[in-house]
Amino acid sequence: MGDRDLAVAAVLRGHLTDGPACGELDERLAELIAAGRRGAEVSSPLEEIFERPALRDWVAAVRGDAHLRPPEVVAVARGDRGLAPDLQLPGPPGAVAAARFVCPAGDDLTWFRQQAGDPVPMCGTHHVALVPAPGGAA
Ligand SMILES: [Zn+2]
Repeated sequence: MGDRDLAVAAVLRGHLTDGPACGELDERLAELIAAGRRGAEVSSPLEEIFERPALRDWVAAVRGDAHLRPPEVVAVARGDRGLAPDLQLPGPPGAVAAARFVCPAGDDLTWFRQQAGDPVPMCGTHHVALVPAPGGAA
């Protein structure tokens, strides 16, 4: 179990789509991340989640990105997908960088802001607002 897998799990928590199973999955991921950061071996249960058919392709894309960004965030950062016209910045595509936010309490949730004005979520485990990650933009 590398830190990278824990980081992927934190990104998954930040970008889970809404659904009936998400609360449960979010809690499970939070437990595994906390255990992993304490040094426990959590690679098997994490891999089981990463291999779920609904998540497999998405997780593979995150793992394949140098900054561990979800594919939808990479698309925005590249300018592949339109921002609202009033949000577009001058300059070439790619000038729009997605900002990375993390949980300051446990580094157990990672979220990328895709558009200016997107509200910053809370970490459901620690009940604190996410903060901009050191290094800022991805
Ligand atoms: Zn947290």
